[in-house]
Amino acid sequence: MDVLELYRRTGALLEGHFLLRSGWHSPVFLQSAALLQHPLYAEAVGEALGKLFEDEKVDFVIGPALGGIVLSFVVAKALGARALFAEKDGQGGMTLRKGLTVNPGDRFLAVEDVVTTGESVRKAIRAAEARGGVLLGVGAIVDRSGGKADFGVPFRALLKLEVPHYPPEACPLCRGGVPLEEV
Ligand SMILES: [Zn+2]
Repeated sequence: MDVLELYRRTGALLEGHFLLRSGWHSPVFLQSAALLQHPLYAEAVGEALGKLFEDEKVDFVIGPALGGIVLSFVVAKALGARALFAEKDGQGGMTLRKGLTVNPGDRFLAVEDVVTTGESVRKAIRAAEARGGVLLGVGAIVDRSGGKADFGVPFRALLKLEVPHYPPEACPLCRGGVPLEEV
């Protein structure tokens, strides 16, 4: 699967000067929602990502809301697992809403569309672990961490993308006066 072509085709690959969720700045932003709004593309991505973990027995997949909800759903569908999501708890962490089941010892996969620092998927992981889930792997459509994301379990992505990103104080786009766009 040519993931980058899919991002391009759906207008999900943006170029400019962006403030990422991680707080870092980048000349490139992958707006996965623009891709995942197409159910057939989303399903294809879910199947491809699920294949990377097909040898595992997965009870549920979890992603951080809102971006991780659709991805969790399509990966879970491909693996025959339950689809959960974690949402902000208002105190800097994440929590699971009532009705989403985690049985003690359930093995789960955590997913996020694009992993840069991995901070938001980590919060979803902690929310599931707090309920007794056992993390077996992390999956992403795109790994743009430059090999730096380490979750202590297998981390697999459909695409590894080397895109520069900078802390605000060291951002050449800021120095050049390029308007910053929040995404
Ligand atoms: Zn900047």
